[in-house]
Amino acid sequence: MSISGERQICDLLIEHASELLACQAYGNGAVRGPDLAKLEVIEDGAVAVTDGRIVAVGTTAQLAARFDARRRIDATGRLVSPGLVDPHTHLVHAGHRETEWEGRVTGRSRPGLERGIMATVRATRAARTAELRSRALADLDTMLAYGTTTAEAKSGYGLDTDTELRLLEITAGLNHPVELAVTYLGAHVLPPEFAADRSAYVDLVIGFLPEARVYAEYCDICCDPVGFTPDECRRIAAVATEYGFRLRVHGDQTGDGDGAALAAEIGAASIDHLDSVSAEGLARLAASDTVGVILPGVTHHMLEATPGLAEDGGTAPALFSDRPSWARRLVDSGAALALSTDYNPGTCATLSMQAVMQLAARLYRLTYAEIWHMATINAAAALNRADRVGSLEPGKQADLVIWDVSTHGLLINRFGTNLAHRVIKKGNIVTRDGA
Ligand SMILES: [Zn+2]
Repeated sequence: MSISGERQICDLLIEHASELLACQAYGNGAVRGPDLAKLEVIEDGAVAVTDGRIVAVGTTAQLAARFDARRRIDATGRLVSPGLVDPHTHLVHAGHRETEWEGRVTGRSRPGLERGIMATVRATRAARTAELRSRALADLDTMLAYGTTTAEAKSGYGLDTDTELRLLEITAGLNHPVELAVTYLGAHVLPPEFAADRSAYVDLVIGFLPEARVYAEYCDICCDPVGFTPDECRRIAAVATEYGFRLRVHGDQTGDGDGAALAAEIGAASIDHLDSVSAEGLARLAASDTVGVILPGVTHHMLEATPGLAEDGGTAPALFSDRPSWARRLVDSGAALALSTDYNPGTCATLSMQAVMQLAARLYRLTYAEIWHMATINAAAALNRADRVGSLEPGKQADLVIWDVSTHGLLINRFGTNLAHRVIKKGNIVTRDGA
């Protein structure tokens, strides 16, 4: 930071943070490999904001020498970090699946209960637009109150063109401080009405791309044993790219579906899940700019009942116990990695990135420094927004959180309550004490 003799005026000066995390990338885009452990912590930190942008970051003494502020916030005793970024949510949908989940965890499911993604598809198709919109807005309020300032939101619970269009229209029209990247996920699962003709459904997804592009920035494809084959995904990706979509992949969740290699090949912004990624797929991912998004909330919520492996708890191999070595392999590969909720009613019903960060430590045994990078700058890179959000650096959008804890480790250690004190989006205070 350069200190010139001349004093400047800023709109807002947040000062005396017990710790300030910048979470900046070293080089371009995402933080990888050993750099994930290098988290810069500024004690007695301060950040200056003007016109919704960060103008300076440093110690309180450095910034007090440079700036007169129109408004000051004293963050004594509090951690200040970038706003959290959640790069994978199935935000707009209807219905809940808590009865199905009770059946999974107890191993005693209720006979005749419709389960899985199609249960949510049916509820969503039947829901009124106003109902879907108001629930999504309420969910965004919760995300914001818990410190998420940017998120991704997918369609994919329509699986017919009318409902997919409605979901994308609703998502793109949500007026809320949480900034959304909108994704079309027509290739989520094969709807049962197309069971006899897979290729007709792939054609339907491809035919809908021009309409989807009006609302969506990304096209997501599920390249997984329970989703679509690499060749089906290639067909969709090729046309989506022609229409100007950026690509995302759900992949290698329930088995190795060659998702990671496909994501690297088609230049996807992210591949999400990766639970069953092969060594070769991981090597391809590590050599690419594609960000691997890992989802400890899903691991926690499903444990051995991971979809596709076991329907009712019981007999599947326990994916859970090897998750720490799996996560370490991903980090050591040098792949760019991010964390996300995968918010959805079936496999991860949380809206809280705080919870995800806590679970990443407990279930994946990642370090605090690794987790902070994965929930901020790397999550922004997964949404091609690392140049604008995800870190506290001059020129970036002033999206930040003042936390009710004094250190970055305590935010991950103190699980189960909302620790966000104030959330600031583009320089404006948008929540105080969770409201
Ligand atoms: Zn998902």
